[in-house]
Amino acid sequence: MLDGSDAMNQDPDYSAAYIKINTTDPALYGNALVFTTGRGNDVQIEAIRMLVDQISDLDVDDAFNNIGEIARKLSRNSHIRWLGPDVGVFHMAAGAVLNALWDLFAKAKKKPLWKLLSDLTPEQVVAAIDFRYITDVLTPHEALEILKSAEASKEKNQSILLERGVPAYTTSPGWLGYSDEKMLALTQQAIEDGFKLIKYKCGGLIQDDQRRLKLVRNLVGREFKIAIDANQVWDVDQAINWLKELKEFDLYWIEEPTHPEDVLGHARIAREIAPIKVATGEMANNRIIFKQLLQSNAISIMQIDASRVAGVNENLANILMAAKYKIPVCPHAGGVGLCEMVQHLAMFDAVAVTGHHERRVVEFVDHLHEHFLTPVSIKDGFYTAPLLPGGGGEMFDSSIQEFLYPHGEYWSVQK
Ligand SMILES: [Mg+2]
Repeated sequence: MLDGSDAMNQDPDYSAAYIKINTTDPALYGNALVFTTGRGNDVQIEAIRMLVDQISDLDVDDAFNNIGEIARKLSRNSHIRWLGPDVGVFHMAAGAVLNALWDLFAKAKKKPLWKLLSDLTPEQVVAAIDFRYITDVLTPHEALEILKSAEASKEKNQSILLERGVPAYTTSPGWLGYSDEKMLALTQQAIEDGFKLIKYKCGGLIQDDQRRLKLVRNLVGREFKIAIDANQVWDVDQAINWLKELKEFDLYWIEEPTHPEDVLGHARIAREIAPIKVATGEMANNRIIFKQLLQSNAISIMQIDASRVAGVNENLANILMAAKYKIPVCPHAGGVGLCEMVQHLAMFDAVAVTGHHERRVVEFVDHLHEHFLTPVSIKDGFYTAPLLPGGGGEMFDSSIQEFLYPHGEYWSVQK
């Protein structure tokens, strides 16, 4: 099948650690997930189990009013922080807990998450953020100023969102394991579906990249935007040399050319391969890495992920830092449920921070949406705004029962 295959992840087993926070009202609960590619799931679930103790017995309204404090507590437990800080399994677990709480708040207030976030006052948004380690580039006061200056446009931005949505781009035609025929057929389909940018995986063999991109360029013409994604396979010099070999294809961005924490490496790549833009962030662990990527002009496209960092709270910080640097936030999606979750953050950005502009495109990958109660809806190349309450991460009970590892029906048939 090879959906999801790239130069780094050759046998992904799309999975998720799933969390449900119950309340005393059986009809009110919060869900979220952390996307994994298989075996790491067991570790991820244990980490979430260890953190949820910290939010038991909370009152929903109190939690909503103190979500910033809850986020700070989840990241500052000294025993757990020793295993980080602010990276990896426990950081993603904190994200799961916080995202599930935001889902709960949105359901309690009967709003889709993008609307709940957009309706917060600038002061409430700022109170939700942990500014520790980022005040050298963004102080609470500056964040407040950015949000206040966008307030007057909120209503108009919301009307545009409801009417049209936010632009999407697709990765569906570009998996590395696809034949040329399948790639071209899906490319043609994507153009007919209204997408204005398509992304292709790269970084296996240079000859393969050249052949595939030549075929694609011939099909889409000179003007169409093509991005490529190396999923971190290159060293810095290798990335620069590889991209020089692909110069003739007029690429729009190169995504994850090297290790996600090599900020200076990204900066050098960006300098040497201009005008191709450098994009990264789906595996940037935290706001501190994003801060450095922005400070050092290492990225022209910032790719936040809904389940990599510490939830909605940390992504609010990421979106505001990007706004200060005037770098578009083009969220990473795909996986399991990432489109469903991250679209809310892009829509909040479009309504309450940087407004509508074509530089923001949200990744779309067309699989696994059928497991979600509020699957994304793409129309003419745009994500349309979800109207049902919640943050998008709730799965059907029937899907959970069928695929729950290791006792779900799917696994017994596999054995
Ligand atoms: Mg990617």
